[in-house]
Amino acid sequence: MSSIPELKYKIMTPGPTMVRENVRLARSLECTNPDIDVEFVEFYKETCEILSKCLHTKNESLIMDGEGILGLEAACASLTEPGDKVLVLDNGLYGAGFADFVTMYGGIPTLYTTSYEEAIDVEGLRAFLSDNHDFKYATLVHCDTPSGMLNPVEELSIVLHEYGIMTVVDSVSAMFGEPLDIDRGQFDIVCGGSQKALSAPPGLTFVVVSEQAKKAMDERKTPIASFYANIRAFKTYYEDKWFPYTMPISDIYGFRTALDNFVEDTECFERHAMVAEYTRNRLVENGIKLYGKNGYSNTVTAFCVPEGHTAGDILKRMRDEYGIMIAGSFGIFGDKLLRIGHMGEGAYVENAKATLDAFFAVVGK
Ligand SMILES: *Cc1c(COP(=O)(O)O)cnc(C)c1O
Repeated sequence: MSSIPELKYKIMTPGPTMVRENVRLARSLECTNPDIDVEFVEFYKETCEILSKCLHTKNESLIMDGEGILGLEAACASLTEPGDKVLVLDNGLYGAGFADFVTMYGGIPTLYTTSYEEAIDVEGLRAFLSDNHDFKYATLVHCDTPSGMLNPVEELSIVLHEYGIMTVVDSVSAMFGEPLDIDRGQFDIVCGGSQKALSAPPGLTFVVVSEQAKKAMDERKTPIASFYANIRAFKTYYEDKWFPYTMPISDIYGFRTALDNFVEDTECFERHAMVAEYTRNRLVENGIKLYGKNGYSNTVTAFCVPEGHTAGDILKRMRDEYGIMIAGSFGIFGDKLLRIGHMGEGAYVENAKATLDAFFAVVGK
């Protein structure tokens, strides 16, 4: 008898998201030995190339074995040398969090903190940079998930590049639900994860790395202070047919199928935009306050817990009585905000409708 519980909930959280059957089946395919079977190396490379194409770049993608956080850490570990100055764009919890990774690897972060209720303003950043631009790289968050705040990362990165500052972008909870054009934004490292809008199970991260970033890593004076988070450990994997560690082959089979699903889904971004708008409109029409004044992401909607209720109570009742999981938030937003994830497999109006029907039934509207 299996002890794995059967899925009984509709998962409308901002990741992990629901996983389509063909992705689950791909994960059950027979495995070869990925260390020595060159066919797997070809499959891995082809999957990385499709990933780069989906994100509008010829920059190399590398899938790494670890969930989304590994990508953020790998970007900072690989770029940061002791004493390096790094600009940390901060209008949310993930934004501020980058400072920890920078510090951990000996860098000196400067926080550029703006209102958490608004997307980062491009002209404001331009004005700041005119007097302060001695930075090796900057960190940016596309969608800061705990508050659902979407930043114009392409425009921000273009301005940073005008000052020769490289850019590391966390798009884990935006890409595949929000358009992202890596070459237009000139991003040096973009971080993604399997478990958000791509709708594969948690377990994989990937980084998309520019030639300039690779050059900066190769020209370091000190070695990268990590093995697992060292992006350059993959430098010659294809030529040598040798990965730095055994690749999680079943995870990558599932990931590839999820990527193929995205490629076939020609209306993906329109659907995300429509479902997000439907969600926001229904909340506002019923007197619920959205978090923030602008910058609403099409992958997640954060809104205030209605008066007379607690986040914990609403989450429990929606789960127990309606079989729908939404999320609370954390940090300074804990207890104050609720979040509906409408990304990937969740991004269908039927799902959003069922979720909002249940929510309004619970809060008595
Ligand atoms: C989910 C997420 C991550 C990765 O975190 P996990 O621990 O894999 O969930 C990183 N950045 C952002 C903005 C995220 O939403």
